[in-house]
Amino acid sequence: KKNIKGTTLTNFNVYDDNIRLKDNQQAELESEMEIALERHEFVMFLQPKVSLDSNAICGAEALVRWMHPLKGIRMPGDFLPLFESNGFIKRIDEFMWEETAKYLARLSELGYSIPVSVNVSRLHIGNTDLVTELSGLVKKYSIDPSKLELEITETLFTEDTGSLYSIMQELKNVGFTIEMDDFGSGYSSLNMLKDAPVDVIKIDRFFLDEVIDTKRGKIIVANSIKMSKELGMRTIAEGVETKEQAEFLRNSGCDIAQGYFYSKPIPTEEFEALLKEGVLK
Ligand code: C2E
Ligand code: CA
Ligand code: CA
Repeated sequence: KKNIKGTTLTNFNVYDDNIRLKDNQQAELESEMEIALERHEFVMFLQPKVSLDSNAICGAEALVRWMHPLKGIRMPGDFLPLFESNGFIKRIDEFMWEETAKYLARLSELGYSIPVSVNVSRLHIGNTDLVTELSGLVKKYSIDPSKLELEITETLFTEDTGSLYSIMQELKNVGFTIEMDDFGSGYSSLNMLKDAPVDVIKIDRFFLDEVIDTKRGKIIVANSIKMSKELGMRTIAEGVETKEQAEFLRNSGCDIAQGYFYSKPIPTEEFEALLKEGVLK
């Protein structure tokens, strides 16, 4: 009995310390974020997307990195959850969209006509300015809206789909391409497939991981790809780490792959070097 009591007390102390540590870290991040944005410490990295028939680079996803002058590179998982709760993620997203629009103009100058996708956080949905804001960027940098792909996470599709779908439809009317990110991570992926006005289905990396090793899993992934295709949507698989996964996806008719097997997210200069080579693998 004594033992149990002791353990509980210790656990409680550890828990308490962890919370305090976390609070301190969060307070520190919060005090630095505005200045960091002004000082250009947030940087756009690009992860190539590869066409599964040719292994040619056919696009990229823009992912944010925080290059801290003292602490080095910070990954989104370390600061985006906080920015989602304090709203600063909207500023990060807007910054990333602008960087991406600017970069699309540069790519077109270099003679590449490939799309780049950006992430749209849940805080932007329901914001009526979203369409105006994105259309403004397209005009400002004279880019083709279909090259700016918008990734919207599947978990959002369970909330108020009515207003979500109407915003998505408006964005599509302007010419943006819409990707459903993290497909397979939510509760009713099939319903979403039926109704959502999206152009591209992006299969979640955990879904791919978990299922690809089992026979039943393979059947589910292969048929999700087949169904998306028959419904007129393109398919991307993210988190592709092995040759076997790439081959399975290719045989299942998946169009595009993204993952460490091809390349990690990299700075723009490195991305341009890869583009010159053209083909990965
Ligand atoms: P996501 O949108 O699902 O992005 C894919 C994540 O998977 C990226 O993590 C990428 O580096 C990682 N990844 C890609 N290929 C592989 C692979 O083969 N294996 C493994 N293990 N991981 C792989 P990252 O860059 O750390 O970003 C994490 C999440 O943060 C993103 O997940 C996205 O939800 C969010 N995020 C990143 N940048 C932005 C942004 O500018 N705005 C918003 N709203 N969210 C962002
Ligand atoms: Ca994404
Ligand atoms: Ca994803």
